[in-house]
Amino acid sequence: MVESVSEMRKLHIGIIDIVSKGPTRALYARVMNPNLASIMPQVIAVWCREQGHDVTFLCYTGFEDLIGELPSNIDLIFIGAFTEAAHTAYALSNLFRSRGAVTALGGPHARCYPEDALRYFDYVLGFTDRETLRGVLSDCSPHRPAGMRVAAAQQPKTLPGVRQRWPFIEPTLRKAPLLKMVPTLGSLGCPYTCAFCIDAAVPYQTMDFDGVQEDLSFLLTKFRRPRVGWHDPNFGVRFNEFLDVIERAAPPGRIDFIAESSLSLLSEPHLKRLKRCGFKALLPGIESWFDLGNKSKTGAQLGMDKVRQVADHVNLILGYIPYVQANFVLGLDTDEGPEPFELTKRFLDLAPGAFPGYSLLTAFGRAAQLNLDYQRAHRVLPFPFHFLNNNQAMNVRPRNYSWRGFYDRVIDLTAYSFSVKANARRFRATAGLTARAMNVVRAVSTEGFGRLNYYKDIRRRLDKDPQFRPYFEQETAELPRFYIDLVRKDLGPLFQWLPEGALYHNPNAYWQSQGCGDVGSMRPSPNRVTLEK
Ligand code: SF4
Repeated sequence: MVESVSEMRKLHIGIIDIVSKGPTRALYARVMNPNLASIMPQVIAVWCREQGHDVTFLCYTGFEDLIGELPSNIDLIFIGAFTEAAHTAYALSNLFRSRGAVTALGGPHARCYPEDALRYFDYVLGFTDRETLRGVLSDCSPHRPAGMRVAAAQQPKTLPGVRQRWPFIEPTLRKAPLLKMVPTLGSLGCPYTCAFCIDAAVPYQTMDFDGVQEDLSFLLTKFRRPRVGWHDPNFGVRFNEFLDVIERAAPPGRIDFIAESSLSLLSEPHLKRLKRCGFKALLPGIESWFDLGNKSKTGAQLGMDKVRQVADHVNLILGYIPYVQANFVLGLDTDEGPEPFELTKRFLDLAPGAFPGYSLLTAFGRAAQLNLDYQRAHRVLPFPFHFLNNNQAMNVRPRNYSWRGFYDRVIDLTAYSFSVKANARRFRATAGLTARAMNVVRAVSTEGFGRLNYYKDIRRRLDKDPQFRPYFEQETAELPRFYIDLVRKDLGPLFQWLPEGALYHNPNAYWQSQGCGDVGSMRPSPNRVTLEK
């Protein structure tokens, strides 16, 4: 039974939106992390205050004193985390529990790996609406050793807008030295069915159009020229209605926008309208030269034909929109031999202005139905969550490549993409100071040079480090020392709070939950693997 507000005791609530998984000094992180704040932690903060509770909010970008900035008298802490920040979240939960707080986890990690998160949190949230939250607030009690899973049947129909979230947006944006981008939402879910995507299974719904218009109008009172980042999984599905809203809210060009959208939505008439409305950056997904043609509107075209068509399309986009990031997934089952990588290089030659965003194929627990196939085939490696950020580890054994062969090709492609020649060509083919500066910073920071060095290290260890090959070949689940040392370094002082055993998870929990075979045998027994602090 849900208590009324007046019956509920006033709680001291902490909310942490984890953007960075540990302390950092990286240039790109300094510029971009405050712009990567999530919307749901801000929403939870608004709803908690609406219910009369005392809220302290922190967006952790890697530059704050994570422990020192939150008060010590917290009753309940909500942590929002992507899977790559799971260990940071687990350590924080452990720390706050030791101080007497009840802990709750939300965000993508909670949705993808609830079984694991329940070991470390009192509540693990799925889809969360006001009622779900109200239940947690009125219960607010420890659930240990196994936490309680709480979820609404579907995504909420409405969410607090920018005006209501402003008390939490503003302090976060104050941390951004150059670029300030306000997170906004026009829709949830996606009508496309890309098998690897967490949003494919979420029914598409638009947010209230009047609310979206109000968000934009409000921002015009706060900034001379606001920058808005649409957090829609696929912006522009109901293209004309959204652009109508934008045009009603702001005179052309008064607001700059950035959005992820699929190529199939980016026809020339649409691009003209996007340009007129102030869109400055688009991030279309290309993913593969041999799959997912329906998303990029290339139909049955594959290989070099698709490369030419997509490059023409991306060049068309660059004629209207200054910044384009083209996203690719490396290691898909449809890829084989050198061709997919060589085709990506040809794409870069033909569309030199696009910034390539590469993701190594990763199965995030329950994120997608396709992950059941990988788990059933025993192809998912138990890499610690900390490395599941689409580049530090690929947790699906590639179907058509050996690990060494795969990393050789990834290194070759990354080196090609961020060579002096490619960077110079990208600089020349990009218009505008901001777009050019972004490309340079990204290429020389963690994304370009940083990743290249990391991949080279992994490749070298596949030859030289005796712990590497057996782990990658799934002959043992004994985690190479290299990864433990890296988590320790990345987490900094929080590492001492990482619970025993937290570096290990069952990579087949999703499949097992469907009542399928015993696949837990690859998990090391707790007494065989001890986490050294
Ligand atoms: S188009 Fe994008 S958001 Fe939609 S299902 Fe595919 S990958 Fe996900």
